[in-house]
Amino acid sequence: MAKNGKNRYTTAWGAPVADDQNSISAGERGPLLLQDVHLLQKLAHFNRERIPERVVHAKGAGAYGYFEVTNDVSKYTKAKFLSRVGKKTEMFARFSTVGGERGSADTARDPRGFALKFYTEDGNYDLVGNNTPVFFIRDTIKFPDFIHTQKRHPKSNLPDPDMFWDFLSLTPESIHQVTILFSDRGTPYSYRHMNGYSSHTYMWYNEKGDYHWVQFHFKTEQGIKNFNLHEAREMAGKDPNHATRDLYYTIEKGDYPSWKLEVQIMPPEDAKKYRFDAFDITKVWLHADYPPIEVGRMVLDKNPDNYFDDVEQAAFSPGNFVPGIGPSPDKMLQGRLFAYHDTHRHRLGPNYEQLPVNRARHAQTRTYQRDGFMRQNLDGDLYPNYYPNSFDGPEPDPSSIEPPIDVTGLAMRHKPSYPQDDFIQTGLLYGKVMTDTDRNHLVENIVDHLGDAQKRIQLRQCALFYKADPDYGTRVAEGIGLDAKEVKRLAEMSHEERAKATSA
Ligand code: NDP
Repeated sequence: MAKNGKNRYTTAWGAPVADDQNSISAGERGPLLLQDVHLLQKLAHFNRERIPERVVHAKGAGAYGYFEVTNDVSKYTKAKFLSRVGKKTEMFARFSTVGGERGSADTARDPRGFALKFYTEDGNYDLVGNNTPVFFIRDTIKFPDFIHTQKRHPKSNLPDPDMFWDFLSLTPESIHQVTILFSDRGTPYSYRHMNGYSSHTYMWYNEKGDYHWVQFHFKTEQGIKNFNLHEAREMAGKDPNHATRDLYYTIEKGDYPSWKLEVQIMPPEDAKKYRFDAFDITKVWLHADYPPIEVGRMVLDKNPDNYFDDVEQAAFSPGNFVPGIGPSPDKMLQGRLFAYHDTHRHRLGPNYEQLPVNRARHAQTRTYQRDGFMRQNLDGDLYPNYYPNSFDGPEPDPSSIEPPIDVTGLAMRHKPSYPQDDFIQTGLLYGKVMTDTDRNHLVENIVDHLGDAQKRIQLRQCALFYKADPDYGTRVAEGIGLDAKEVKRLAEMSHEERAKATSA
């Protein structure tokens, strides 16, 4: 039946579709004709429905909400969205697993992405963190290799325990994150039941240009809840979309998840002498040294209208700063400042910031960037396409300048030399923070996974556990059936000696 008005089926160019069930053919049983442009467009567009999957964080779920300031932090930062108690800012959040493909199970053992976009009046501010306060590596140059080890083997196309553990055991700085990943926090019950961390150190600066280093902690108000190994596996079979479903339907029924934001603040002088490298993402700042300060509360209260538009096309970057917040010298962050924008240009095109979910909703964008695929004339373009100009084009605002930081030294490939140990904080986590149940599950989870790797790799990895805590290394070794004395011997070697002693 013909439809008029808003219910009329049209082509993408707006013309009415007369018949969507029968292609135009030459005769009743004849071949189809090229002149059926509706058919051609339908088939051609279908072929182009997929955009490149994110290389990391491919499987995710997201929601809109708001952030509300509950404590005055204006002496530390001039960020307008944090300027006064009670201030609310619209935001979007996307949670994800990291290594798996778009169709992978939500309950996989993996860190979880915790990406936030705040639509502030000074432009969009993105905080692109994880549910873990640390990371596997501290230099971005190792990132592609690390991620390859979490993916499928190039020959078998299967996840491969040898490549997974070979890389980690040859990268001792990973031990802290490996321990968190193989605790039950590596299989959160849902996206609502986990914390989010900036992981990186960032800079906050105030109106006077005084700056501090800062780390962000979003603490779940639903409480931490995790699957154990067996529950996670069972759920992967029963409902591989468990976390996506949980987030969507909880919000749908009006039970809005929330997180409390706390920050740790470090004066710049402290960073020069703190016992752990303040910019090393494999370390935390101990709470006793830098007690968390309350900042505000994030609430997610609206599901996206369209998953592809809002979640699949959401593009976050840790480089999207607003005045009052800036980068730190963290060598993982520095690489991400490039890589996030770059991957969006690849996935979505150079004008991805104009897509509705990515658009600066409460600030006018006025750039001198021009044209490119899918460009829309959002900022009016009623000014020249070059700067400087004498035709009243947009002018820089010197009041938004970041404070200068003192940087000196030789330009070279520096090996880390900060006087610290990669194993102390893992030892604290294992020995002081974890309960007996946490430790039992940690050992069980590792034995289950590392048990499939080659023996020489198992030995090398167990030596790292041993260095964090002899009990930890011994229990994993015994669980796999290794000689604990051999593990101890390897733990006492230097990294280079151990690598040599366990080479193929
Ligand atoms: P505290 O002893 O003051 O607190 C322990 C912290 O560990 C809490 O934040 C807790 O999170 C978190 N935690 C508990 N179980 C796990 C787990 N399985 N995986 C990851 N985190 C867990 O911490 P300290 O500052 O004295 O640091 C001791 C150790 O705690 C660190 O070496 C680090 O491994 C870990 N940790 C420290 C953090 C920090 O920023 N200082 C942040 C997270 C972990 P919750 O409160 O949500 O239960």
